[in-house]
Order: sequence, then structure tokens, then C-alpha cells
Amino acid sequence: MRIGMLGFIHESNTFVSFPTTRQGFEGGLHRRREVLSRWKDTRHELGGFMAGADVHGFEAVPLMTASATPGGPLTAYAFESILGEMLQLLEEERGLDGLLLALHGAMAAEDHRDADGEIVSRIREVFDGEKPVIMTLDCHANISKKMVDNVTATVLYRTNPHTDQRERGLEAAGLMARTVRGRIHPVQALEKPPMVINITKQYTRRQPALGLIRDAEQVMRRTAILSASVGLGFAFADVKKMGASFLAVADGDEEVARRQARWMAVRAWNRRDEFVGILPSPVEAVNQAARSPDRPVVLMDVGDNVGGGGPADSTILLAECIRQGVSDVLIVLRDREAVERCVEAGVGAELSLEVGGKTDDLHGHPVPVHGRVRTLSDGRFVDDGPRHGGGRFYDQGVTAVVETPERHTIVLTSLRMPPFSLEQVLSLGVKPETKRIIVVKGVIAPRAAYEPIAEEIITVDTPGSTSANLLQFEYQHRRRPLFPFEVEATFPQTYAKNK
Ligand SMILES: [Zn+2]
Repeated sequence: MRIGMLGFIHESNTFVSFPTTRQGFEGGLHRRREVLSRWKDTRHELGGFMAGADVHGFEAVPLMTASATPGGPLTAYAFESILGEMLQLLEEERGLDGLLLALHGAMAAEDHRDADGEIVSRIREVFDGEKPVIMTLDCHANISKKMVDNVTATVLYRTNPHTDQRERGLEAAGLMARTVRGRIHPVQALEKPPMVINITKQYTRRQPALGLIRDAEQVMRRTAILSASVGLGFAFADVKKMGASFLAVADGDEEVARRQARWMAVRAWNRRDEFVGILPSPVEAVNQAARSPDRPVVLMDVGDNVGGGGPADSTILLAECIRQGVSDVLIVLRDREAVERCVEAGVGAELSLEVGGKTDDLHGHPVPVHGRVRTLSDGRFVDDGPRHGGGRFYDQGVTAVVETPERHTIVLTSLRMPPFSLEQVLSLGVKPETKRIIVVKGVIAPRAAYEPIAEEIITVDTPGSTSANLLQFEYQHRRRPLFPFEVEATFPQTYAKNK
């Protein structure tokens, strides 16, 4: 049994001011054997596919993988050139019995708002329609009918932070092996109640999101069900498919899949008020953190969520800490210009800088700081732990650590790096556990890295391209009515019993 592996992964925020270019995928493009060396033994679903090949006795045939840091929609050139190459490799590879496909599910491209749907329909044009395609998705996927209609089965991560990616890859590999051997005949159903789950309510270890995962687990215990998934959704995409999704995969019986997906969707719909986000302002949050007897307090900078496409240079919380006279703050800012100044000055040099706030007007202004260059680094680090994103090797570009007389530690990176690994700062000799406040640019995902050292985590309603306050975004393409934008939205209660 020979199963092809493809991956094309991007979370696209249609509200950010910069597109994701072909260059954005540099370092994230792997072909043939490179796919094995990049992903084997990682916690990523692609690592899970490969492990699954050993467990279930098939040959995993690496074709190509492409991934880039979340950002704006892909340019037409980036999308077409990468997909075109993938399709060519898939066509050239003869004798495949199935295809394992790793997508994110919230990709948008210049010419395709539902880029993931476009990918699977183009794959179906070249790949034998009788052969199974099993797709894994991030649980931030916005799922369309086009996406599920073109694949045999779909498996989403069931944790946020995403620490089960490898397990979901294994699950998909198991479904593939049993399908090819004719032991199961997967059919799937998608339900999309007209609701949005605010990103601040997507922490799956706690309610209200925990209840959604428990529902999916309950569905999975039913005999005819092969898999069940919750798409928490990605609201920073002005696309028709944006919102929550519920998906069940049944063995041979589409009605069973439909009933179970519907049951999960109705249960979530009936709790829709619990998934609306209300957060403290930057002023309140910094004040609360400054008065806390415990340290460090992590302030989650929701408006500059790097893993959601934020620019990684918002200064709103740093400026507020300085305004309130708080000392001992740690913040990571992407600022290539400031890094270059530090490199010129050299380790140990004292200098004045304007840091951050340089991408656009949404994320604060450059903040003047005076300090000493403590460390310069190539910005590469390794983390073998189970981190959100399933990564292992990281590169935040040339990086400088500046310390100020107020004991602020300002980490300046050249590249945008989502804060999924504590090694991002530990590898620079910074001791985050000793700080009063740590500004972390994310919402839920960084918890896997920061919870072990944080005494308290405050999620802050900072403005920006990933703000939790969805009412500030001007949507043109989303569904209407959609809760909570239109409170009059309705969803029929049929199949509400889990029988
Ligand atoms: Zn995600």
C-alpha cells in the first residue's frame, strides 16, 4: 500500500495589511525526501502520518509540503505556483492507493477566498476519484462544503493549544489504512450553525470550549462513528465559510454522520452566548498585573496575535506599562531596523532606539527606549516539547536583547515568530520567570509554553488586526445573519437528540 503525503498550510488573516508572498514560504517548502527530514519525528500531523505508516503497514510517499507564518492572504502567484507544483508531483507519482493531505483550513488567496476548497477540488481533478483522500485540519479551520465534498474523511485537531497534532495525523493514517483495505467506508457530514466562537473562548482545557470537545468525544464513542471534529473557526477571515463547524465521519451511513454532526452543532448553538468575548482593556490589565502579588503575570496581546497574522510589533501594552511606571517587563518585538542598530552598536553598547509600532497604524507607535545590548543571536532555537504548531526547529532571524535601567527586557527579532515556545527567550539567556510582566503576542496557543511559568494570565482587549472585538472589523463576505453580529440569527433544532 502506497499513500502519498501533501501539506499546504497557511492561516490567512484578511484584515492584515501585508499579503503572504511566495517569499513568505521560503524555508517552508519541502519536496520528496526533504519532507521526511523536515517532519519525521515531529509532533506535527505530518510526523503522525509517517508514524502511522509504520503502525499500519503502508509506505508513506512524500510529495511536497508548504507552510508559512500566518499573515495576509496568499498572492495569486504564491498560491498558483505552489499548488501547481504539488499537483504536478501528484500526477507524476503513479500507483498511489490514497492521499493524506495536511491543510490548515483557514487559507485565503487573492483569487480564492476558500483556498482550501480550491486545493481539494484541484487535487480531485488529477487524483483518481475512487481513491481515498483523507484531510487533516487545524481546529481554527473555517470549513466549507467544497472542502468536505472533495475528500473522503476529515480529522481536526481536538486541542487548543494544539498539542495533539501528531495523534490526529496517526488517526488519519489509521482511517486511510482501513479504508484502502476495504474494512471501512467513510462518509462525512458538515454542520455549520450561524455562529462565531470568539478566539478568547477557544481554550479547550476549560469551559466553554471544553464542552464542545467532550461532545465530539461522546460522538466518537458511538459504534458507527469513525471520527468527530469541532472547527472552532478563525474569525479574522472575511470569507463566507467563516464560523464554527461540526463534522462527523461515519462508516458507510451518511444519515448517522449527519445526525451526529447536527447534534454537536445544536448543542453548541444553544450555548452560543457563552462563546462571546469580553476582556479587560490595556489600562485595566496592566493595572491589575502591576498590583498582583504574584509574578510573572502574562498579558496576552490579543490584537497582535502573531499566530493569527499579527505583525508582532504592537507597542500598545509596552507603552501602557511605561505610562503606568511598571518596571521589569519582558516583551518580544519584531523590528529588523532596531536589530540592525543593535548589531552595529555591538554587545555591551548603550543606545537609544525607537522600537516596534512600525507596520501600520493599528498596533501603536514606535516607543523610545534607552538601554544596553545584552545579547546578539542568530535567532535559531530548538524545542522538542509538545508545543502548539508541532514544530521543532525555529528561526526568528537575527535577534538582539536590550535591557533598560527600568529592568525592561526587550527582545528584538528580525522575523515574525509566534510565541509558541519558551525557548524563544530561554535560548537568549533571558529568565522569563523572574519578570513582573511578560507581554505575549497571542491568545490561547502560547499557553502551552507560558502556563508552566506564569502565576497569572490576563487576556487583554488590545486593538489590532487580530482584535477580539470583532465588531471593529468591516466584513463584506461573511454569512448574514451570523451570531453574535446579528442576534436574530436562527438554527433549526432537528436531530437535537443524540440517539
Ligand atoms: Zn490553530
